[in-house]
Amino acid sequence: MKHKEIFDKAYRRLKELFGDAPDIKILSRFYSEKMVLQKDDYIRYLEILGRVCERATALGEHIRVSGTAGSSFTAFLLGATDINPVPFYEYCPKCKRVEYTDKRMPFDGHLPKCECGYDMICDGYNLPFEMNIGSVLSEKIQLGVSRLFFNEAKEMICEYMSDKSIVKLKGSEDISTTWLCFLDKDEDMGGEYSLCDNAPVFENTPHITLLPMPILDKYRELEAATGVRMKDIPHDIIVFFDLLKETLTDSPTSVRIL
Ligand SMILES: [Zn+2]
Repeated sequence: MKHKEIFDKAYRRLKELFGDAPDIKILSRFYSEKMVLQKDDYIRYLEILGRVCERATALGEHIRVSGTAGSSFTAFLLGATDINPVPFYEYCPKCKRVEYTDKRMPFDGHLPKCECGYDMICDGYNLPFEMNIGSVLSEKIQLGVSRLFFNEAKEMICEYMSDKSIVKLKGSEDISTTWLCFLDKDEDMGGEYSLCDNAPVFENTPHITLLPMPILDKYRELEAATGVRMKDIPHDIIVFFDLLKETLTDSPTSVRIL
C-alpha cells in the first residue's frame, strides 16, 4: 500500500470514530503525526502491524507492539495498538461531541451519560507522540508475538514488504528473536543470517524486531480457562500481571531459597 492510501485508511477510521467533523484537537494530532510519518516507510510498518493484529485477534492470538506505536494516534487508527494516545476524552456517538476530562475513565463500568441520554465513549491515554520520535526517524519497531503465531506473523510482514530486499537476522532456535531488515531492492543482500554475528552491522538499518513472548501464549490459555478476554482487562492490571509473573518465574534467587 502506498503512503497516501494508508493515511486515507487511517482518516476513514478517524471519521468512523469521531464523525464527519472531528474535534480540532483530534484532527490536529492526526495531521501533526502525518507531517512526521509521511517522510519514511514507518507508516507502512504501522499498517502491516494493524493487519497482523487483526489476524492475531481472529485466531485468538496475542501480540504486543512496543515503542512509538504506543504513543501514535495513527497506529491506533490503523489497529496497530489498542492504546489511543489522545488526551482523556468522553465522546457522544449521537451528538458527535467530544469533551476532554482530567483523568482516565472509571473502570467500574458506569459510563457517563450525554445530555441527549446516550452513553458516552471514554478513551484516551494522554501520551504525546514526541515521546518516542527517535524510533520513528530510525524506522525501528519491536513486536512481541506469541510462540504459536510467530511464524505466521513473520510471513505476513515479509510478504507485505516484498518490494524490499529483506535480510532476516535470527537466533539459533527455531522460534527466536528475529530482525526483519528492509533494504532497497537494488541492495540485493536478502537472505537469512545469524543475529548475534550481524546485529551491529544492521543496527541502523530500518527493521522490525520480532520477539517471541511465551507470556502471550499464557494469555490465550488464560482466556480459554476463564472466558475473560485480555482486551477487557484494564491495561494497568495486565502490566501488574506481567510483572508478577516475571517475579515468580524468572527470579533464580527465589528458586535457590526454595
Ligand atoms: Zn449526545
